[in-house]
Amino acid sequence: MLGLMQDQPLLISNLIDFAERHHGDGEIVSRRVEGDIHRYTWADVAARSRQVGNALDALHLVFSDRVATLAWNGYRHLELYFGVSGSGRVLHTVNPRLHPEQIAWITNHAEDQVMCFDMTFLPIIAAIHSKCSTVKHWIALCDTDNLPADTGIPGLRSYEAWIGGASSTYAWPSFDENSASSMCYTSGTTGNPKAALYSHRSTTLHAYAAALPDVMCISARDSILPVVPMFHVNAWGIPYSAALTGCKLVFPGAAMDGKSIYELMEAEGVTYSAGVPTVWQMLLGHLKANNLKFSTLKRTVIGGSACPPAMIAAFNDDYGVEVLHAWGMTEMSPLGTLCTLKNKHLLLSKEEQMKILLKQGRAIYGVDMKIVGDDGMALPHDGKAYGDLLVKGPWVVREYFKGEGGDPLVNGWFPTGDVATIDADGYVQITDRSKDVIKSGGEWISSIEIENIAMAHPAVLMAACVGMFHPKWDERPIVAVVKKPGQEVSRDTLIAFFEGKTAKWQIPDDVVFVDAIPLGATGKMLKTRLRELLKDYKLPGL
Ligand code: ADP
Repeated sequence: MLGLMQDQPLLISNLIDFAERHHGDGEIVSRRVEGDIHRYTWADVAARSRQVGNALDALHLVFSDRVATLAWNGYRHLELYFGVSGSGRVLHTVNPRLHPEQIAWITNHAEDQVMCFDMTFLPIIAAIHSKCSTVKHWIALCDTDNLPADTGIPGLRSYEAWIGGASSTYAWPSFDENSASSMCYTSGTTGNPKAALYSHRSTTLHAYAAALPDVMCISARDSILPVVPMFHVNAWGIPYSAALTGCKLVFPGAAMDGKSIYELMEAEGVTYSAGVPTVWQMLLGHLKANNLKFSTLKRTVIGGSACPPAMIAAFNDDYGVEVLHAWGMTEMSPLGTLCTLKNKHLLLSKEEQMKILLKQGRAIYGVDMKIVGDDGMALPHDGKAYGDLLVKGPWVVREYFKGEGGDPLVNGWFPTGDVATIDADGYVQITDRSKDVIKSGGEWISSIEIENIAMAHPAVLMAACVGMFHPKWDERPIVAVVKKPGQEVSRDTLIAFFEGKTAKWQIPDDVVFVDAIPLGATGKMLKTRLRELLKDYKLPGL
């Protein structure tokens, strides 16, 4: 017997309809590429998203055609989020930090028909447009006055001219909720990038889950500044959860430096933010150097790579900001875990609570997870056994776009490529990406743990731990360190700093001081590149 409730597909257009109807006067504030501040409301987003729908119809784009964006976090990008997916097309957010050749490759692979780009990225488009064979329409996200003449890009028009003439009346189509809504390519640190293809259903369910109190805890009373880019895994789903809750959104545009982000947070009463650790490093540096405090910021989600304990402590103790450590990946839309305490933990001491909060957190309802050993057998959830982390759920990838890379699943589970422990309360701790694990004398050393200890030293700005070949032990860890400006620390002092903080055999054999650690397109440490830079390095005594 079937239930007798209404059968209504979960569509992204419902989210923007809801935001308009119930939070129509809610504010959306953007720092534009032009430098000024733009403000309007959810009702405006909705009206202009419908104009996007009409404008795409006028280009004769059919259902599931791909529309690419190469854009910062801003209001026009938000309109494309709803207008493209809502009208049945697929939003393809492209990461502008990728190499231009890779952007061209991705655009061709996705068979994008339209490319909408911020003017910042005009040089990239100018360099690659002739190689993007499927793109028929080039749209610059600006008004006509800001569109330079003679760009050489065929038929280039401004976004405002493109949607300006279109009606804001549009009946969103209804279709199968499993239809594709947006896509995002993984960074492709090995081989060509592969795309996760999200659906209306997966996106809506993820938006619900992300807003839960023990997840991102997003409400109508929040003012959220997503530092995490809308070109990477849909800004962790924040635009969708924002429409679902009607919170205020504040977009930083191209100004991603600590000063600009801080000033925007203060000016717009931002209560909530989200981003990768490297961005927060910059922000904290700015605050410290200028003796500033936050007057409204209450919480920030930090994920994408391990959040160093020293950063959690700085936010908590120095600025009174709660850090929510999160783990996920492109293939998971992206949220998998988020770290908040359970009721029973409230009686623990602050130190004991902190030990829990440093972990990546508990599974969100909707994501099932397990760890397995080399034989594929499930390992106990005792907080000690570590193994490959596998996940499944309605917002986890089943297959990559165009079947790239074959069947990724193992008996229905998606292998994340991460190595983790899970404790009896379900808290996951990521010890490493499987390719970054250091194998020393048959034992594993967590590079994340070594980095966390190094980062706790007051003179260390950033630390990356990699394994180096050793004839006896296979590999031994060394740590590459960037010092804070004006701070000094010697190799020996730093090695001594590890004493008592980890097992003796896990202490790195050496410290290499570097000017910068190479970062990838999503702001994560690029260990492959670091290993290349250290190719002539020899461990002490060898
Ligand atoms: P990529 O495209 O590089 O795979 P993702 O953003 O999808 O980029 O990265 C996902 C990976 O990032 C995870 O598999 C994990 O290795 C790492 N990661 C994400 N969040 C955390 C975290 N909180 N702690 C440790 N590693 C993390």
